[in-house]
Amino acid sequence: MVSRVIPVDTFDLTIFGGTGDLARRKILPGLYRRYLAGQMPDASRIVGAARSDMDDAAYRDEVREALKEFVEPHLVDPEALEGFLGCVHYVAIDATGESGWRKLRDLMRADCVRAFYFSVAPSLFGALAERLHEHGIADPQSRIVVEKPFGRDLASARSLNRTLAEHFDEAQIYRIDHYLGKETVQNLMALRFGNVLFEPLWNSQYVDHIQITVAETVGVGGRGGYYDKSGAMRDMVQNHLMQLLCLIAMEPPSQFEPDAVRDEKLKVIRALDPVRPEDIVRGQYERRGDTPSYLEDVEDGDSRTESFIAMKIHVSNWRWAGTPFYVRTGKRLRARQSEIAVVFKDAPHSIFGAEAGRHRNVLTIRLQPNEGMTLVTTIKEPGLGGMRLIDVPLDMTFAEALGAENEVTDAYERLIMDVIRGNQTLFMRGDEVEAAWAWTDPMIERWSTRDDRPFRYEPGSSGPEESSMLLHRETRRWREIRE
Ligand code: NAD
Repeated sequence: MVSRVIPVDTFDLTIFGGTGDLARRKILPGLYRRYLAGQMPDASRIVGAARSDMDDAAYRDEVREALKEFVEPHLVDPEALEGFLGCVHYVAIDATGESGWRKLRDLMRADCVRAFYFSVAPSLFGALAERLHEHGIADPQSRIVVEKPFGRDLASARSLNRTLAEHFDEAQIYRIDHYLGKETVQNLMALRFGNVLFEPLWNSQYVDHIQITVAETVGVGGRGGYYDKSGAMRDMVQNHLMQLLCLIAMEPPSQFEPDAVRDEKLKVIRALDPVRPEDIVRGQYERRGDTPSYLEDVEDGDSRTESFIAMKIHVSNWRWAGTPFYVRTGKRLRARQSEIAVVFKDAPHSIFGAEAGRHRNVLTIRLQPNEGMTLVTTIKEPGLGGMRLIDVPLDMTFAEALGAENEVTDAYERLIMDVIRGNQTLFMRGDEVEAAWAWTDPMIERWSTRDDRPFRYEPGSSGPEESSMLLHRETRRWREIRE
């Protein structure tokens, strides 16, 4: 099966922060892959913009090195590489100063899509928006892409929205949550709204509970200082896990259109109950051997920031009343694993008797690794000896089922192409982001004022014991985090 490449219009994409980590690891490799796929029209250009003083040739050398480091080796073809680099330019620019803007304006062309990727610290978003406007570089069709974090609370997100709105319409603003660009996350919508099979069961009558897990094996390492100001709630729950929860919980939109989808997601966020303190477990990883603890990583022995959080969340509406959503995310856990598990209720009556055991259907959507889905179904154990039941997974690993050509399009490359196409479906709207902060703020405020100390957990575990208790006390249990 061969991937379909839908052509996009010729574009000029300016990457502010073009020499930064995100540009090198994700944005430029993603664009190169699109170039290889034949999706980047010949006349399109990529303009790196950052503070360092260098010319096109020096920047192309940097980009070449980044591609060799971060693109899959079999895709690094010298001829293609040079062809791609021919589209790459550089402008030395200071987001807060006046140098470079005239040069950037002179580079812009009238007849193509203009997009500006703000891959810089959020404190510079306002200055960039202002200068793009002042210098007449952005036109009414231009798009800006803003990275996370979008604020650190409701007040800062509101203020950022206001600043951007002074210079750009909402239809021009693309707030990235790269989780939304993942193949499986979109498949979640295809699964729910493209099949008749699941929708009738997708409610509290048939679903016992839902688990969302995003587990990482890495610690905060070199980003300690930054991370300690944020923590798992701000860094992961308010954005990525919230988006996953919305896609699982939302009502079917009338169309797969940006505002129809985002309206439904917003309704979910607004239907979230405040989470009770006893339904939140926060943790910090300990030291193991030579690997430093969280407190050592952030160099603050008294830090109260969480590197792990687990919560029980209620969506207060007709569809979900009584079905809890358990979410957890953390660093230095047993395995890198992101998945959503929809755990269905027991059959109302077992015709096979008590010894047949308790069996449940579980639909698991794996975001990483091995993107795919598994539906655990109950069948008869083969052989003689009466009716013994076992649970077997119906497994669909996408790479196997759909063939290697369709393997993993990186979230960033898909999202960047959506920006060029002008499709905002997979981007967060300003009101969504604000609603998510409005829900998280009181919880963060509560544990900050009470000065709550996170529990400790062992690196390589599934988080603090107390997180297991969150489910045990309701005779449920977390799915295992496994290698
Ligand atoms: P980085 O520190 O590696 O790079 C920052 C870039 O901004 C550099 O190119 C630098 O030259 C440029 N820059 C700094 N000050 C500037 C100024 N005054 N004018 C013009 N350019 C300036 O940062 P990064 O890791 O690439 O992150 C960029 C953005 O993306 C941040 O908002 C970050 O939160 C977000 N983000 C990064 C990652 C990641 O994996 N790196 C993931 C998610 C979100």
